[in-house]
Amino acid sequence: MEDGKPVWAPHPTDGFQLGMIVDIGAGALTIEPFNRKGKTFLASMNQVFPAEEDVNKHMEDNCSLMYLNEGTLLNNVRVRYSKDKIYTYVANILIAVNPYFDIPKLYAPETIKSYQGRSLGTLPPHVYAIADKAYRDMRVLKMSQSIIVSGESGAGKTENTKFVLRYLTTSYGTGQDIDERIVQANPLLEAFGNAKTVRNNNSSRFGKFVEIHFNEKNKVVGGFVSHYLLEKSRICMQSKEERNYHIFYRLCAGASEDIRQRLHLDSPDSFRYLNRGCTRYFASKDTDKQIMQNRKSSEHVKLGALKDPLLDDQGDFNRMCGAMKKIGLDDTEKLDLFRVVAGVLHLGNIDFEETGSTSGGCILMNQSSQKLAYCADLLGLDQEDLRVSLTTRVMLTTAGGAKGTVIKVPLRVEQANNARDALAKAVYSCLFDHVVRRVNQCFPFKTSSNFIGVLDIAGFEYFEHNSFEQFCINYCNEKLQQFFNERILKEEQELYQREGLGVNEVHYVDNQDCIDLVEAKLVGILDILDEENRLPQPSDHHFANTIHSQHKDHFRLTVPRKSKLAVHRNVRDDEGFIVRHFAGAVCYETTQLNLLLEKLRSTGSSFIRCVKPNLKMVSHQFEGAQILSQLQCSGMVSVLDLMQGGFPSRAPFHELYNMYKQYMPDKLTRLDPRLFCKALFKALGLNENDYKFGLTRVFFRPGKFAEFDQIMKSD
Ligand code: ATP
Ligand code: MG
Repeated sequence: MEDGKPVWAPHPTDGFQLGMIVDIGAGALTIEPFNRKGKTFLASMNQVFPAEEDVNKHMEDNCSLMYLNEGTLLNNVRVRYSKDKIYTYVANILIAVNPYFDIPKLYAPETIKSYQGRSLGTLPPHVYAIADKAYRDMRVLKMSQSIIVSGESGAGKTENTKFVLRYLTTSYGTGQDIDERIVQANPLLEAFGNAKTVRNNNSSRFGKFVEIHFNEKNKVVGGFVSHYLLEKSRICMQSKEERNYHIFYRLCAGASEDIRQRLHLDSPDSFRYLNRGCTRYFASKDTDKQIMQNRKSSEHVKLGALKDPLLDDQGDFNRMCGAMKKIGLDDTEKLDLFRVVAGVLHLGNIDFEETGSTSGGCILMNQSSQKLAYCADLLGLDQEDLRVSLTTRVMLTTAGGAKGTVIKVPLRVEQANNARDALAKAVYSCLFDHVVRRVNQCFPFKTSSNFIGVLDIAGFEYFEHNSFEQFCINYCNEKLQQFFNERILKEEQELYQREGLGVNEVHYVDNQDCIDLVEAKLVGILDILDEENRLPQPSDHHFANTIHSQHKDHFRLTVPRKSKLAVHRNVRDDEGFIVRHFAGAVCYETTQLNLLLEKLRSTGSSFIRCVKPNLKMVSHQFEGAQILSQLQCSGMVSVLDLMQGGFPSRAPFHELYNMYKQYMPDKLTRLDPRLFCKALFKALGLNENDYKFGLTRVFFRPGKFAEFDQIMKSD
């Protein structure tokens, strides 16, 4: 960086601003922003990056830029986004910014056709190009492939996953039912596993790995879905302005009169699991117009199930039923699913009251007997069994009376409420397992040569209150980040070696210590938790203390500040711990996960990093600082560091030959492609530090390929 040259300097909301270095001090640079002459500010050396000469220029592959750093990456993505070009490559990794509107023709059938069989980079960046690369790699290398889609909530993971599935089944299917079933399984899974949250109106509250299987002729033969970490707490409680799983509202809104009667359905407002626990803006009986008015006025706080004018529960119910039909579910099976959904709702409406007796137990409130009867009927349970299991717990006597006798201990109201909610969560989660199992029966396959799997799993989560569910998701992301690092680093290294480049080993940010903190035998957080659960009287306080004493001075672990936990939740300040994740610090079923990682390791892999452009969920709004932090969290900035020191642009000899032979005299074109390139580079007087010849291709330093291309085309 030199005085007078443009640089990207930090900006609180835009991420970066363009400026000029006007003074270089011992620890800081003085920057003058281009758009505010004379208003200088200080920035530390590691926050300022060289900018491209022309900041309005954009590149399909970010590695074609001269300077690879977070400033130029953010700017490249920004300029492209402003032209509705939402996809950008960083070498083979695809960045996808959510446009929040349908870009005309972007996913049209003719676009699908145009990407078939085309190498990455020959057409504009696209999720279809990644899907096609996975397919061609599978065919050529005879090896299964996975596409890992990541990003924060609302960034577009699920939408891009669906585009991949649609692309592969359309392009390489056999035109039979199975192709359409693989696509239509999604609306069903989303009905049971997605919900409206403050970050996304259709947020997936589970992770999934969808495999499309191919036969020896590389045609689609079937599919298989694995699911991970369904969020169970949502079934009984939702945060402010969030909803339960879509299916509950859709069933209430769309079921026929006959089904409504059979399931004893009513409006969502009448069910505890849909109408409680948060400030409501509107009741579902309100019209959309009323809802909009309520939102504007400040006196709109009503109790009622959350209805949002953006969601069409009735229409979605019909679409979901259509999807069920297409994948082969008959009316009986459909009704069976609905019975369980309604059963959970009625279960939630059961209330308890103290018996008043000295034993301190509780009984069902008067009006709850009816709900119990509905619930037992719908779930196929005996009423009396259900009542007893909700109001008592089973204990094995050890002292006094006969050893080993089972006795029923009455529960207090609060304990019975917990038992009811625990049962609801268990039933719904079994229902979800069943839905996935049933979906898998819709696209069975007898033999499969290889598969392409698409992983759509929630990114790092950081809420005000983070529980075990967030811990699991973040741990899972930490593992995936490690996998990403391993793959990108290893592949880059192996390519350099294979091509005989003689480049020094490349180093990388490592997060193994964070993974060890969770996984280590005996002293890892998971084992400590296991151990705590075996104690006669486990406690949060003891658990947190054990973690802190086992890992004194661990760089990744700190005690939360009193203000954060204690003020909000009235808890002791030592009942928590903060883990510094790859993506930042977060205050806080591993076997379902290791299998996945094993599977990913045995396949070739591609990565799609989805980016959410703004928190308002609107089109054409680029919140730079937000986006920058997502690019950093997804490891993209580290990839740029890696590339900046290496040779990120590469082109096979024969491609260069075909591209440029038209500009060369006949004599030169008679050479074989490798010699042709050598002669060409010599003739142009290219600096030998800017490129290296490998065995099959030329490698360029950052930005040098673009420079070379420009010389060729301008001469
Ligand atoms: P979560 O982690 O909450 O499940 P997600 O990353 O899966 O979030 P999506 O549900 O895929 O996010 O996307 C959120 C919304 O953004 C979609 O419902 C859709 O409205 C919009 N969206 C995403 N990608 C696109 C796209 N390529 N074109 C148009 N709209 C899109
Ligand atoms: Mg999703």
